[in-house]
Amino acid sequence: MDGHVDAIDDAPVTLKQKCTTADNPLLMWLSDHDEYLAEMLRMDGRGDYTSHTCCKCASAPALFQCDDCCDMQLYCGDCTVCNHLRSPTHCIKEWTGSFFMATSLKKLGLRIQLGHAISESCILPRKSSNDNFLLIDTNGIHKMAVDFCACETSQTHTKQLLRMGWFPSTTVDPRTAATFWLLHHYHILSFESKASAYEFYHSLVRISDNVGLIKKVGVLLG
Ligand SMILES: [Zn+2]
Ligand SMILES: [Zn+2]
Ligand SMILES: [Zn+2]
Repeated sequence: MDGHVDAIDDAPVTLKQKCTTADNPLLMWLSDHDEYLAEMLRMDGRGDYTSHTCCKCASAPALFQCDDCCDMQLYCGDCTVCNHLRSPTHCIKEWTGSFFMATSLKKLGLRIQLGHAISESCILPRKSSNDNFLLIDTNGIHKMAVDFCACETSQTHTKQLLRMGWFPSTTVDPRTAATFWLLHHYHILSFESKASAYEFYHSLVRISDNVGLIKKVGVLLG
């Protein structure tokens, strides 16, 4: 094997290879790193979206931005809720006047109605215990306002959750669930990593609150 390598090394170089970015990508990037940093810091502010009115309804103050939507625009609270009827676990932040602060769709008034299609209303909605449902997803742990359906044809609470794609933590009066996508994510991760379920869960806790500033969530999460 060594002899073969020596033979290649000793071969006369007839064609001069062109140097490409793939030869040393970090070195090529180094001259641009200030620009990258400036753009990342720019995202801490409102960027191009300095208008004080919501870009959707053009009537209320534009204070809310979503960390998970592919959209850097700011919206009012009602439009933010409307934008997230199908993505209730997105992480929302509120512009305080000088910086963004984490808030939630629940605080903005989003309620999730189980047992019905999104466009349907339920005539007998029942709030989950303490109106404080915890949903665990790949982007963290979310406090949610969830209404179970108590209509005549309603299913059990666990079935209503399962039909939403949420796996309930208990079969009796469930107050916590994990999305099917999260379970799939951990299943695939377990093929490549030795992360235990405990470590995986606590990484999600950190995604939600890496420095322990949200005391109440910390208590709820144990
Ligand atoms: Zn609006
Ligand atoms: Zn979003
Ligand atoms: Zn109903």
